[in-house]
Amino acid sequence: MERSELVAEWARGKREASAALALQIAGKIKSGEYAVEDAPCFCGGARDREVALHERYGIPARIVLCEECALLRINPRLTAAAYQSFYNNEYRSLNFPHYLSGVASAEEERQALFDRQIKKGERLVAKIAEQAIAMPKVALDVGCHLGGNLEPFRRLGSEVWGIEIDSDAAAFAEARGVNVVGSIDELIERGVKADLVIMQDVIEHFTDLREVAKLGAVMTPESYLYVFTPGLFRVRAAALFQLAHTYYFVANTLHWVMAECGFNATYIDEECESFWQYEGKRAPRSAKPAEWVEYVADEIEGKDERKMPPFGGVCKFTKKELYDNMQKNFARQIPDLYAITQSRTGPVAILAGGPSVDEQAGEIKRLADSGVPVMAIARMYPWCAMHGIKPEYVVSLDCMDEQEKGFVLLQPGVTYLLAAVTRPAIVERVKREKIYIFDSRDDVYVQKLRREAGYTVCSVVNGGGSVAVLSISLAFNLGFRELHVFGMDLMTRSLEQTHATGIAGESVEVRPLPVTIKGEDIQTTGPWLEFARQTLDLLSAAHNDGILDSVKFYGESLINKMWDGKFYDEDAA
Ligand SMILES: [Zn+2]
Repeated sequence: MERSELVAEWARGKREASAALALQIAGKIKSGEYAVEDAPCFCGGARDREVALHERYGIPARIVLCEECALLRINPRLTAAAYQSFYNNEYRSLNFPHYLSGVASAEEERQALFDRQIKKGERLVAKIAEQAIAMPKVALDVGCHLGGNLEPFRRLGSEVWGIEIDSDAAAFAEARGVNVVGSIDELIERGVKADLVIMQDVIEHFTDLREVAKLGAVMTPESYLYVFTPGLFRVRAAALFQLAHTYYFVANTLHWVMAECGFNATYIDEECESFWQYEGKRAPRSAKPAEWVEYVADEIEGKDERKMPPFGGVCKFTKKELYDNMQKNFARQIPDLYAITQSRTGPVAILAGGPSVDEQAGEIKRLADSGVPVMAIARMYPWCAMHGIKPEYVVSLDCMDEQEKGFVLLQPGVTYLLAAVTRPAIVERVKREKIYIFDSRDDVYVQKLRREAGYTVCSVVNGGGSVAVLSISLAFNLGFRELHVFGMDLMTRSLEQTHATGIAGESVEVRPLPVTIKGEDIQTTGPWLEFARQTLDLLSAAHNDGILDSVKFYGESLINKMWDGKFYDEDAA
């Protein structure tokens, strides 16, 4: 037989073996050999919505969505004894059917699996470096199986611990230098403290999620917990559901469960890949993420038209990159923005990069000639030079390579307001001019970096993800009270031109989102809509605090479509 035929034969054998095994398990559940029990939700809620009756191999498994906290789980589920028997006898063969295929010996298969685990461990080593997490002196893998995940850590000098109940796997791992115990309690008794705890493809097997809280006892305040579980928004529901998985998550429900167990996320995405630090139990319990019930139900049903879930943003830069840039900038002793906070008053013209700004060059020049200071986002800096406009301030928010394209036609006498994460190469180019830095988030680690560099203040100015929104915040920080905002279109007439002509670099990806406002059809994007909402919140807060006298948005702007320019008077209500 040709090799390709052999592989096809092998794959067919795998499928048939899996199917036969699934039938056998289904029979055990039906006959009662595998007993099932009621499985109440982690949240204590009692309202379940049935979303599936079979798992991915066709084994009967009732999957329910808790209508109080949006967690998905199997209910009823196998009893502890039935699960134990299932794990010992069928779980691996069902999910990793090459054990049944006979093409390799059990030893060869085990070695191959170990090698795959090593690859995952190597990926994790890279991931913690990206997150600016130090290499652990002590690493612990919960459910370490053969110990492959820990092997790269062991080679790099970590002391490695694993929790594993499968005695064959535990012996294999021990032979490769892993200290294996049978339970978290054993580690607590021995007083082991891990700098990194790994929980990869494990939390979805827990029958009691409160057990996760116990991990806090083997961690210090500086330790990190890595959790990966397949997220519902990344894996098709039909492929996700399986007998061994007692719970299923989206980032938001995982976030809530972990917070209930005393953990605080330092990173999380919709793959449900995440890092956490232990802060201890919070009381009382935080609100259940009930609003996610609808989004989860829509996703399982695969609905075409649905409300868009409020996905959290993931910073596109690694923490390491951000911290490295900050450290270099702090070392230059660039003054903090605090030095010029509230140094101004009166009007300011803010230049964002929407296409309508092209028609406004004359109006901007007229304002500038009458003495109104101009504040431009970095990407508009070259546009200003092309139109003979001299900005008094240029604002940079992030550290994309693209940002450098904004700093090519430098004008003398400009004051640069730079987020501390700005690329050091940009700082180098403008170093002879006035520069002030600020942080875009309140971060304990950054404050430590600042203190080490001799700073005694730390200004935090937030603009969500938009440099235009940030510029408005900065204008308030400087003391300006009358805003003239140009190019904050947040909408587009044509998908051919979504930004001003000649603007430097790329902004957010333009994925059209049609909306209707007061009967008018408008093309915007998800992020633009969010920026408009943030701007309106910011203006409203500034107005209520008495730091904003007037604001005008020039050209075609989503904000003018959404808002009539009047402030809601809280006192009159
Ligand atoms: Zn619940």
